[in-house]
Amino acid sequence: MSEMSRRRLLESVGLIAAAGTLPAAARAGQLKSPEGAGKMKLDLADFQPVSMLHVPETKIARSRYPVIDIHAHLSIRAKSMGGVGVGEEMQFLSTPELILPTMDRKNIRLMVNLTGGSGKGLIEAIQRFQQPHPDRFLTFTEPAWERADQPGFAKFQAAEIVRAHDAGARGVKVLKTLGLYLRERISEGPLVKIDDPRFDPMWEACGSLGIPVAIHVSDPEAFFLPTDRTNERFEELNNHPDWSFHGRDFPSNAELLEARNRVFAKHPKTQFIALHVGNNAENLTYVSECMDRFGNMTVELAARVGELGRQPRMSRKFFDKYQDRILFGTDAVPNGTDTPQQIFGDPLYEIYYRFLETEDEYFDYAPAPIPPQGRWRIYGIGLPDGILKKVYYENAARLLKL
Ligand SMILES: [Zn+2]
Repeated sequence: MSEMSRRRLLESVGLIAAAGTLPAAARAGQLKSPEGAGKMKLDLADFQPVSMLHVPETKIARSRYPVIDIHAHLSIRAKSMGGVGVGEEMQFLSTPELILPTMDRKNIRLMVNLTGGSGKGLIEAIQRFQQPHPDRFLTFTEPAWERADQPGFAKFQAAEIVRAHDAGARGVKVLKTLGLYLRERISEGPLVKIDDPRFDPMWEACGSLGIPVAIHVSDPEAFFLPTDRTNERFEELNNHPDWSFHGRDFPSNAELLEARNRVFAKHPKTQFIALHVGNNAENLTYVSECMDRFGNMTVELAARVGELGRQPRMSRKFFDKYQDRILFGTDAVPNGTDTPQQIFGDPLYEIYYRFLETEDEYFDYAPAPIPPQGRWRIYGIGLPDGILKKVYYENAARLLKL
């Protein structure tokens, strides 16, 4: 056996043992240097260090106060073209019967299915979740992007929002489709700008109806940088190369956020929920400036406890200052597997609760052996009861007019 394949074998033994009880130091000790001496080599993917910190571990099986999860995906459009969801046909990811026991265990009063689709698909989504359990599930509708290149779209889409509202939709969800996928000929041509005036009647309709727009704009800053050794989300981008928006004809992260801000400014009567901590959780100073500028902007937490929890002091101040405008959300997807930070279930909620309720040190932000969004861990911010109640429930209840 060559020294190289022997090393691989030892590494693979180390990897199997990693699932067991062997501490990292012992596993690393099994590695042999290819030269027989000096530095050892270890693939990044095989590195699973076990923290030697002896610090309190608080298990929060149930939130201290009832929760509204404003950001879940219980259905998605069945078809897509170049990243743009098309058609009214929906794919359902779960049933109320499968979800409610977890919700009850975790103290989740209400879950909002953001991706409820449009037209017939929306009616189905409402019938499936919201109609039988109106106090447990709400549904948002989505724009019919595939019609965005047709004359009359602006009027049609505004009227469609009114129809969706009549059918029971409680808000509008805009995926990052707008800004990053939707093109002038749907999947071809130049990208359509977020502040394109053809959407103005739609934003205005939401304002008139008093329903919020949950909007995802751009993505983590690292997704706009080369996937190289300096990228803090290298492994995540390596696992999902299609999440990279570096190069090609993509606008920068900053340009996308500025276009979004122009929409917020132009439609002050419309309430916007800027998802994923305003899509800039890495830069809370920027998010704060936006919050100060736009009274119609709220944020939610989904899939960003990894960001908030690695800057616990900044985060704690952010929660203090904007305690009336932060909503609880997770981006939970039932039966999702390739994004551990989004898998609907007990472990997901326990992490969010631990981050918000405890001052625990240095714990995983996702139920996964390797931190899926980047190689770091997080710290709890131990919010006081008054802020917890607002973030868990009251802020969302006010926005949803419950
Ligand atoms: Zn989402």
